[in-house]
Amino acid sequence: MDSWNTEQLASDDKRYVWHPFTSMGEWCASDHEPIVLVGGEGAMVRDSRGREYIDGNSSIWTNVHGHNHPRINAAILEQLERVAHTSFLGTTNPPAIKLAREIVNLFPEEKFGRVFYSDDGSTGMEAALRIVSQYWKLRGSRRRTFISFRNAYHGDTAGAASLGSAAMFGSEIDGFHFPVRRVGSVEELSEIPFTDEVAAVAIEPIVQGAAGMRVWPRGTLRQLREWCDEFETLLIADEVMTGFGRTGRMFACEHEDVHPDLYVFAKGLTGGYLPLAITLITDKIFEPFGHNNPDATLFYGHSYTGNALGCAAALASLEIFRLENTIEALTPKIELLQRGLQAMEQASGIEEARSCGMIGAIDLAWGPSAAEVCQVAREKGLLTRHIRNTVTLMPPLIVSTGQLERALDILKESIQIVVSRTGNRRRSLE
Ligand code: PMP
Repeated sequence: MDSWNTEQLASDDKRYVWHPFTSMGEWCASDHEPIVLVGGEGAMVRDSRGREYIDGNSSIWTNVHGHNHPRINAAILEQLERVAHTSFLGTTNPPAIKLAREIVNLFPEEKFGRVFYSDDGSTGMEAALRIVSQYWKLRGSRRRTFISFRNAYHGDTAGAASLGSAAMFGSEIDGFHFPVRRVGSVEELSEIPFTDEVAAVAIEPIVQGAAGMRVWPRGTLRQLREWCDEFETLLIADEVMTGFGRTGRMFACEHEDVHPDLYVFAKGLTGGYLPLAITLITDKIFEPFGHNNPDATLFYGHSYTGNALGCAAALASLEIFRLENTIEALTPKIELLQRGLQAMEQASGIEEARSCGMIGAIDLAWGPSAAEVCQVAREKGLLTRHIRNTVTLMPPLIVSTGQLERALDILKESIQIVVSRTGNRRRSLE
């Protein structure tokens, strides 16, 4: 096994690195030693001190088939020996072509026709917004306003962030770029007076992730599709978190047998190995871009667009879905997660526990801190994150039932510990 100098790594990290969504004051405090992850196998990750953890949030909702999957590793290595990266601007490459075809073919015939590549969930959404805006301009329409849902999260680039509720994360920056109107529910759409100005509605289908794993009332997506059809506007399904099996179906939209006009995929697209995103669109939307005039060019893209290593990883991931029957194999795990969380709901300190496929969430009652629960869980061998007062559990789909049971036990114990600590602290103040 490799040996690591954890003290040196931790001190260099604190000295040179800036972490996202992180209070760097807290991170760099002398009593905080960051966990330095150095390895992973299946649903487990290992740190520089040799401690093992269940990857309880799938490495920020990305990992699907487990770490170090031989098939994805081999696919990346095979491509690496050919070439790692070449430009998608002016040239193309085989893995990107093959992946585009496979993604299009995952959907009913003639439904979706074009794949636009980018790097992550944010740029995938950003591309969707640019495509939609330009589409309506090319069609001579005045549709410019986007509709999004309260507490939605669609990423951090300026356009994607203009759809989301940046305020959820305490950010003062809001209303970045695109004109956006926010609604709380599908019912609220009926109050929108300017339906002929709506360019598209964006939704995280079935479950809002960063809002704290909030599951939409059944039928929401279908009603939304009907609303978009009635007012002849477009629907964007942000499947960045939900795509590739997370909700128990390959894509969340399948639960309501609905297709949007644009899908956005990222995170699990490569099995969680490399950054890559896809904005998938219908032929109808592509049609005005297919003409030979400068206005019809989409002036959007990034240096690593269509990266061959990422596309090779994504192709291998799709192959694993077929070979390992990943979706079918989820049933007992989905049931276990659901039962485990239901049983927890009676425990003190818990307000609500819910799941949607392989996504679990526990809202803590007022008092115990979700951050502290995650800290205690860490010490017991489970890595996960909280969103405000919600503890989330979302392991890679490959997780075994034994590991899932262990993760649920750790969460239960950690909540009990924090509830009793909170009670003791309160009593000592009285
Ligand atoms: N959309 C959704 C639904 C997400 O959950 C996220 C990330 N959590 C994003 C977009 C942004 O993705 P990324 O962090 O890869 O830019």
